[in-house]
Amino acid sequence: MPFMLHAVPCLSDNYAYLIHDPASGATAVIDVPEAAPVQQALAAQGWNLTDILITHHHDDHIAGVQELRAATGARVWGARADAHRLPPLDHALAEGDSVTVGQETGHVLDVSGHTVGHIAFHFPDSKLAFTADSLMALGCGRLFEGTAQQMWDSLTKLMDLPDDTVICSGHDYIKGNAAFALSVDGDNPDLAARITRSGADRNDGLPMAIAPLSLELATNPFLRATDPGMKASLGMPQASDVDTFAHLRALKDKF
Ligand code: ZN
Ligand code: FE
Repeated sequence: MPFMLHAVPCLSDNYAYLIHDPASGATAVIDVPEAAPVQQALAAQGWNLTDILITHHHDDHIAGVQELRAATGARVWGARADAHRLPPLDHALAEGDSVTVGQETGHVLDVSGHTVGHIAFHFPDSKLAFTADSLMALGCGRLFEGTAQQMWDSLTKLMDLPDDTVICSGHDYIKGNAAFALSVDGDNPDLAARITRSGADRNDGLPMAIAPLSLELATNPFLRATDPGMKASLGMPQASDVDTFAHLRALKDKF
């Protein structure tokens, strides 16, 4: 049975995500920007937290971890490479490792670029990927620590996941990301359709920013760095994918 997914808005534009395995009763949270809204959501759902999964060391993803662990006794999973700058870990992870939440196994991907040591969690049975500040809805995270090459390698890994994988990122930046996407890819009909829909409500209670990989592949300007039409419209028809990505990322930084 797939996880039940619940998005918890935190701070000004962050999301924590709850995944609940109905068969075992296990519940995990991915990132804890602050503890209180997560605890309220757990209480409202009637779920007991068993696991805390951390994507990267930035404060807006980990500030509530210690408080939530103290309140629930949940196990904490995070990147071994970042152990020196994360709350204490029960399970230190690297690419290729697995996490278990109830009866389901998740795979750990290194998605460095925004930070070095950023990881993502892919749960193939439930078709969910938690990408935080690597791949985001219509965007990607800023390059604070890694290079364009590192981020491109990370995005390429995520692009290779099954098309129907639902991408759950760490923030709702969709408005700003949509404006940038239109500025570089204004003739893309899939992009226009997505932006029109993004003003509407969904019937499953999840944020509009959550979308399947197939839609990101069709509309996310950074993933479209592979597209000959995108390269041509940027005036760099011969450029490699990574150079095209780097150019798009630099344009977005100044946008
Ligand atoms: Zn971050
Ligand atoms: Fe963040």
